[in-house]
Amino acid sequence: MAGASGRRFFVGGNWKMNYSKAILEKINNALNNTKDADVDIVCAPPALFIKDFVSSKPSHVQVAAQNCYHAKEGAFTGEISPEMLKEAGCNWVILGHSERRTLFHEDDEFLKKKIDYVLNKTDVNVIACIGETLQEREAGKTNEVVERQVKAYQEKIANDQYNRVVIAYEPVWAIGTGKVATPQQAQEVHKHLRKFIEQNANAEIAKNIRIIYGGSVSGSNCKELAQQPDIDGFLVGGASLKPEFEQICKSRQD
Ligand code: PEP
Repeated sequence: MAGASGRRFFVGGNWKMNYSKAILEKINNALNNTKDADVDIVCAPPALFIKDFVSSKPSHVQVAAQNCYHAKEGAFTGEISPEMLKEAGCNWVILGHSERRTLFHEDDEFLKKKIDYVLNKTDVNVIACIGETLQEREAGKTNEVVERQVKAYQEKIANDQYNRVVIAYEPVWAIGTGKVATPQQAQEVHKHLRKFIEQNANAEIAKNIRIIYGGSVSGSNCKELAQQPDIDGFLVGGASLKPEFEQICKSRQD
């Protein structure tokens, strides 16, 4: 649903390292009930099971990978290229998730290489994640941190490529903790980010880019968050594996 902003609502489901046939069935059941929802829905199964999802999902749902490497092929043990993901049926990739940043030490320089490669060498779209830790928030550094992270991505996004990028603001302290940002806290950062993107690109790009929120989004808190003027959707972890994902996909309507 585009709403007053003109930006179409976007809901991503990050399954992380979770999968079973039972989960697949449950999610497909929930997704089947979202056919008429005016929203972009993009699910990211573990790489090994992308093809299972592609062959069983409803046609209106798109598919993302949770990560990729910045080369087409070669001696990169354990990595997967965007070209391979595309061939498996993905048209999106999540980059810079906080779990990749903290557990696997992916930094802004590395993520720049990835977004550069994906945008310039393939036609895969990017969900570019950013977000501050609790320590950074408490030190009053939220804006400084998210600006640095967004700026790194922006260095590699040409003006005509912004329509292939969704920014996911995910405060690290809210991911998987059950501690959701208040609608006001999230709105404040989203609004700041839109202004910042305008400064580094232009007003038209800032107006059109989708900035989604992630961090303990659930069936019960999604509606209020979805009403905020600068929140254009969600990146959902835990609840993307549950029937309530349907409700989250429909949070801008009903
Ligand atoms: C995520 O993994 O991107 C996420 C937001 O997780 P959760 O919804 O479980 O907090």
